[in-house]
Amino acid sequence: MPFSDSLPAVLLRALQERGYAEPTSVQAAVLEPETEGRDLLVSAQTGSGKTVAFGLAIAPDLMGGEDRMPQARTPLALVVAPTRELALQVKNELAWLYAPAGGRVVSCVGGMDPIAERRALSQGAHIVVGTPGRLRDHLERGNLVPDTLKAVVLDEADEMLDLGFREELEAILDAAPEGRRTLLFSATVPRAIATLAENYQNDALRIAA
Ligand code: AMP
Repeated sequence: MPFSDSLPAVLLRALQERGYAEPTSVQAAVLEPETEGRDLLVSAQTGSGKTVAFGLAIAPDLMGGEDRMPQARTPLALVVAPTRELALQVKNELAWLYAPAGGRVVSCVGGMDPIAERRALSQGAHIVVGTPGRLRDHLERGNLVPDTLKAVVLDEADEMLDLGFREELEAILDAAPEGRRTLLFSATVPRAIATLAENYQNDALRIAA
């Protein structure tokens, strides 16, 4: 089964150029019509294609049915990941996916130069990908303006809680506008993840692909 042709043509082209002919099961699941506009709580393992899954799931929030990214001074989507390595990997994956649409992806991760990140943010980004502590720092300093966020994605949410990032995640989610979508991806869904989902998601659709 090919990728859904309800996706913007420019994204289908990016997938095709990358050689991805068919969605993985988690990608197919998050692209089902009933997920549109919904908060999602997705059980997904590393290697399942989850990065492209949430990348495509937020396409309507980013592009609003158009075939090109809108002009954006402040970000439309925020992706939070547990480690620098994962955050940079996610950034690269979203960068090739959204490059043909004119999407700009900026990373903000612990251990990298915060001044360079501030500069990159001030030049405008559609998607910001980062680690919890560094993202919270940029929010507190006013470098990262959350007001226009349409979607927040927590990648490997269970891992982030295990690493002790609950306060940072809550600060980030508290800063994001009320009406945004919240997409929670987690290998496991222990009590602490269910609580986070209850507190920060609205009637989330549960997906186990
Ligand atoms: P992830 O689970 O996001 O870490 O992805 C695992 C690997 O699968 C990455 O190298 C992706 O680039 C690759 N991948 C993601 N989606 C697809 C697809 N539809 N077809 C083939 N490879 C894919």
